[in-house]
Amino acid sequence: MGNIVEEVLVPASQGRGVFVKEGQLLDIVDVEGQQVGDLVARLQHDPTEYMSPTHTVSCNASVLLRTGSQLFSNHRNPVFTIVRDDVEKHDIIVPCCDHERFERDYGLTDHKHCLGNLEQARDLLGVEYDLRGEEAWNVFMHNRVTDEGAVVTDPAAHEAGATITLRAHYDLVVLLSACPQDLTPCNNFDCTPMLMRVRDDD
Ligand SMILES: [Zn+2]
Repeated sequence: MGNIVEEVLVPASQGRGVFVKEGQLLDIVDVEGQQVGDLVARLQHDPTEYMSPTHTVSCNASVLLRTGSQLFSNHRNPVFTIVRDDVEKHDIIVPCCDHERFERDYGLTDHKHCLGNLEQARDLLGVEYDLRGEEAWNVFMHNRVTDEGAVVTDPAAHEAGATITLRAHYDLVVLLSACPQDLTPCNNFDCTPMLMRVRDDD
């Protein structure tokens, strides 16, 4: 399994972060099942370079990610390789949920959102940079594009303990939000915790 360096529980509807070194493995574990995590990653030595969903789609010529896929930076360098993926359903099209999502679409001005959770995670780690929702990769989010081009959110169907493992290609700052969206099926209307586990690859 490799030496466990750190485990960080991301409480339901909150955000937490970890530092991951080049070559280490990062497990993202859905503790109770049917939960989506919104993940951002920046290079420690140059925070202007970050994992970019849109560049990843372009580099892979695909919106699908599974074991063996890579995620790329805004400079088209590989940031992660997926070395295990129990779910193989993720969204890499839409940004994370934000204040405007809940205000515009639901008339709610005080609902928790992933962008705020990622800012919480950033502040708890003590790093400084502006976050943007379009940086977030929606891990385990069961979105699909229909033949007509519609983006449909299916209920998350994965079970407790579902894990994706990412190998880091740089020293990274990684932030994760346990998505607090309880008004669509994306978390099956029940927001629960996630776990980040950093391991040496040996
Ligand atoms: Zn969210």
